[in-house]
Order: sequence, then C-alpha cells, then structure tokens
Amino acid sequence: MVKLVSPTGKDVVLRPVRANAGIEASYNRALQKWVDALHKSLSFWITAQYRANPPPSLAQDAGFESFRDGSPANAMRRAIHRMSRRWLKAFDKGADELAEYFVDKAAGATDVQLKDVLAKAGFTVKFKATAEVNNAMQAAVGENVGLIKSIAQQHLSDVEGLVMQSMTQGRNLGDLTEELTKRYGVTKRRAAFIARDQANKMTAVINRTRQAELGITEARWRHSHGGKHPRQSHVAASQADGGKGKLYDVAKGCLIDGDLIWPGELPNCRCTAQSVIKGLE
Ligand SMILES: [Zn+2]
Repeated sequence: MVKLVSPTGKDVVLRPVRANAGIEASYNRALQKWVDALHKSLSFWITAQYRANPPPSLAQDAGFESFRDGSPANAMRRAIHRMSRRWLKAFDKGADELAEYFVDKAAGATDVQLKDVLAKAGFTVKFKATAEVNNAMQAAVGENVGLIKSIAQQHLSDVEGLVMQSMTQGRNLGDLTEELTKRYGVTKRRAAFIARDQANKMTAVINRTRQAELGITEARWRHSHGGKHPRQSHVAASQADGGKGKLYDVAKGCLIDGDLIWPGELPNCRCTAQSVIKGLE
C-alpha cells in the first residue's frame, strides 16, 4: 500500500472517524429482539410453573395439601434448567451469524468513512482485504460471539437466582414478576451497551489498522463531548498541545493515567483520534 505524504509539506490533520450509528442501531435491535424473546418465554413458563408448584407456604394458604419439603423448589429448578438449556442453545446457534454480520458491516462502514475523510483532505485511496484487517475482524467476531452468549448466560443465571429465592421465601407471583421485569431491564441495558461499545471498538481497530497500512503513524487525542461523565484525564489530553490534542504514536497508543490506550478503548469512552499525515521532512 502506498504511504501517504502531505503534498504541501505541512502536516495534514484528518477528521476523526466515528462509529456508524446505523450499524450500532441494527446490532442493538437484533440483540434486543433476542432479549425480548428470552424474557417473554421465561415469564410464560415461570408463571405456569409457579402456579402449578407454588412455594409450600403459599400452597398451604391456598388450601393445597402440604408438599414434601423442597419438592416444588426441585420441580422449579428442573424446569428452569430445561429452559436454560434450550435458550443457551438458541443463542449459541445465532451468535456466530449475528457477530459476523455486525463485524462485516462495521468494518465496511469504517473503510467507507475513512476513504471519505481522506478524500476530503485530498487523498484518494482504495482499500482491499489484507491479512491485518482480516485478523482484526476475526478477533472481533470471537469477542462478539462471547458477548452475545454471555447475555443469555448472565440473564438465565440471574433469573434462576431470583426464582429460587422467591420459592424459598414463599413470595407471591406478583413480587417475582416484578423482579423478573427489573432484571429484564438490566439485561436490555447491557445489550445496548454491548452494541454501542463494540461498534466504537470495531471502528477504532479497523481505522487504526487501515491507517497503519497507509503509513499514518501519529494521531492527536480528541475528547468528544457526547458522554455524560467524561474522564478528566481524557479531556486534558484533548486540550494538550495548545488545544490541538496530545500527539501519540498510533501503533503504541496514548499515555494517559499511566497506561498506553487508544481512543474509545475504555468503557464508554467516546474520544476519537485525529490522524496526522506528516509533511515531507
Ligand atoms: Zn475518553
């Protein structure tokens, strides 16, 4: 690949490349659909099971003959394990395809945007598949498959905990339903976070890889004002060097708080990089 050099001899600073909002949204929509289906199914079966095998104290109140101690809880645990297996399998089955789809779209959108940023700065480039980009994509697919599966794993294990607690404490179905709804909200927010975080990371890693291929070795740290709780050290890095942003080696990362990091690498970090195409020396 041709290394880019500033034609005027002066450094050219590129606009940041940001995650494509549409791709994050479609990834999030897919995850939310899965979480909704999971919650709906669990609610249905847990309600039915809870009615059929209520906790012993509630059963007595309702005039049931008393159960052998622990038996409704065992029946409930078996039912939950059955549902868990089924849902884990469903998430496992779909995770590869969804992760690949997302990574492919995110990588493609990053190429398109970087090409556009470069074109606006007067550089025409053509990207092709390279081993480096392919490696970055494969790593991202693996990470996303793990995250997608973990949504179901974490939710199911939390739900089992809530249901079993409810059984042993003899709580009524209304209270349990309320707890399950809260947990559903937590899982939905976690899925949304994964979509946003992965979209940012994916964009950053592909952008970095492409720029390395173009011989772009330096960038300036820019804080975006999108986040609600910016890290003060990130804001400071953005204000460094007379407000131009701290200059760092793209291959190594920027030294902030004692660590070499890249923009968007830390959770909820919406900072970006402004790449610098060096002038002739
Ligand atoms: Zn940041």
